[in-house]
Amino acid sequence: ELIDPSSPTQRVGGYVGEQFAPIQHERRMYSLDDAMGAEELDEWLARVKEFFGTIPELVCELKIDGSSVAFTYEGGRLIRAATRGDGTTGEDITVNVRTVKDVPLRLRDGALSGIRDADASIELRGECYMPKTSFEALNAAAEANGKQPFANPRNAAAGSLRQKDPQITAHRDLSTFVYAVGDERKLVAETQWDLLKWLGEAGFHVNPDIALVNSVEEVHEFCRKSLERRDALPYDIDGVVVKVNSFAQQEAMGYTARAPRWAIAFKFPPEEKTTLLRDITVQVGRTGKLTPVAEMDPVLVAGSTVARATLHNEDEVLRKDVRVGDTVIVRKAGDVIPEVLGPVFSLRPDDAQPWSMPKECPSCGSPVVREDGEADYRCISIDCPAQALERLLHWASRGAMDIDGMGEEIVRRLVESGRVSDVADYYTLDEVELAQLQIGLGQTIAKKLVAAIDESRTRPFARPLFGLGMRHVGKTMAETLARAFPSMDALMAATEEQLAAVDGVGPKIAHSTYLFLRTPDNVQVIERLAKHGVRLADDVEAQAADALPQTLEGLTFVLTGSLTQSGMKRDEAGAALKARGAKRSEEHT
Ligand code: AMP
Repeated sequence: ELIDPSSPTQRVGGYVGEQFAPIQHERRMYSLDDAMGAEELDEWLARVKEFFGTIPELVCELKIDGSSVAFTYEGGRLIRAATRGDGTTGEDITVNVRTVKDVPLRLRDGALSGIRDADASIELRGECYMPKTSFEALNAAAEANGKQPFANPRNAAAGSLRQKDPQITAHRDLSTFVYAVGDERKLVAETQWDLLKWLGEAGFHVNPDIALVNSVEEVHEFCRKSLERRDALPYDIDGVVVKVNSFAQQEAMGYTARAPRWAIAFKFPPEEKTTLLRDITVQVGRTGKLTPVAEMDPVLVAGSTVARATLHNEDEVLRKDVRVGDTVIVRKAGDVIPEVLGPVFSLRPDDAQPWSMPKECPSCGSPVVREDGEADYRCISIDCPAQALERLLHWASRGAMDIDGMGEEIVRRLVESGRVSDVADYYTLDEVELAQLQIGLGQTIAKKLVAAIDESRTRPFARPLFGLGMRHVGKTMAETLARAFPSMDALMAATEEQLAAVDGVGPKIAHSTYLFLRTPDNVQVIERLAKHGVRLADDVEAQAADALPQTLEGLTFVLTGSLTQSGMKRDEAGAALKARGAKRSEEHT
């Protein structure tokens, strides 16, 4: 009973339950209004000047691109930490935040006199971030283990804070900058500047790049310098936040419905870098679609290394006029997806040639075709190994048959060994043979893989239907088809008109589905799947017995945001809606 929860030995402990408990913030955590460019910044400064008759004292801070966290202290001890959530209610991430080493579990004694009532609770707020180098290392490790990397350091920080197991968070290199208080009346400090000073004294990390200014020119100077230093900083910033210094003056300006009037976020333009376009390669998708891909010298953009970017299709390459050998400008769309903006014409080598789609598939050498009115070229060979690989991966993917462990590397080796060329072949493998194939799989992995393949045999019919990778048949469409035709036999017996008559299907999908199911090679794969025990039907009678009253029939739902109160994931809520007869629209998810 003598263990002190604020002891440094007690940073890791506890467990987040099935869901993160909701936590009400002391006062609302507002967003910030954005100023995109100098003009909008000046508009805000003009409004402030008009309000006070002069430019008041302003504090300039860096806008840290992480995940915001509210820390609650009581009697100087950290008792709670929460995400921002919807601004009013966040999620309880205390056990995870306790593992972040620079978050004080106890405020320094000397600082307690800065709180009006040190025994009462006080909410302090800041940004939790992952340094750029730690992010790169985390992603490199994820990729080496066949796991999905994070898109940027911000997502990595947010993801790390929302781990169910604090041990995982404890192994992530997270840091914080703290810059705000929930209710400033609880502090002795009367200005943002003094708040930052007090936070530092209390033991928090406070960003050192701050300035107290009182002119438009100084604000511009701070923004310019910060933009210049952006690359050199060890963490991501996406702008500068300018705040009216005095709390009384902040109060006087007040808030809009969304954000304080007394602060503005000057947003930096998305980071652009230049690099050498070494090559344009062509990727073959599972439906034979050919996608040109820019292969570039690796370059650090918005926190992560970019070396490849899709160029979408031939028209896009010609429109942007990018050529192999060009120096190209890259950025990340929405801070996530790498994008080639175009070439730097002045640096173009004399011999750079315009690019065109190869006339033959780079994987199998068959002629490629572009149908009238379509932007894409396709390889229409059914024997194309690149397409086979993509089809095999798609079948095993999580949304389809969810064969755990069947990742790209293993599938590639299976294809190269010649033992697997279509999805039915998966179901002919046994562990002895797998281990003997000399593709680097030990007994244990082989055994697990065979168990995972076996488990996939009994998925609901919509899953193998989606897994077959028919054109235009995504996950939702597969579910629609499976509801109308609950077995492969029923689906294969349907005429094109019957397919088109299903609500939500339409002639285009009916046509491609009908054709797919009449193509001899596909029929053969389906027959072999059935022969090897893959269940290609739903048990309609059992389902009818379990069926819920169809109380939501005729309604369509769009699910967005998170469903904090119910504790359901969106997919679970979607399934619950569908089970009651409702439709779920995927457009906005
Ligand atoms: P936005 O999400 O674009 O509306 O920007 C508001 C967010 O910026 C806040 O919720 C904070 O998490 C974040 N932020 C980062 N650095 C700062 C800072 N120095 N002052 C205030 N907010 C900041």
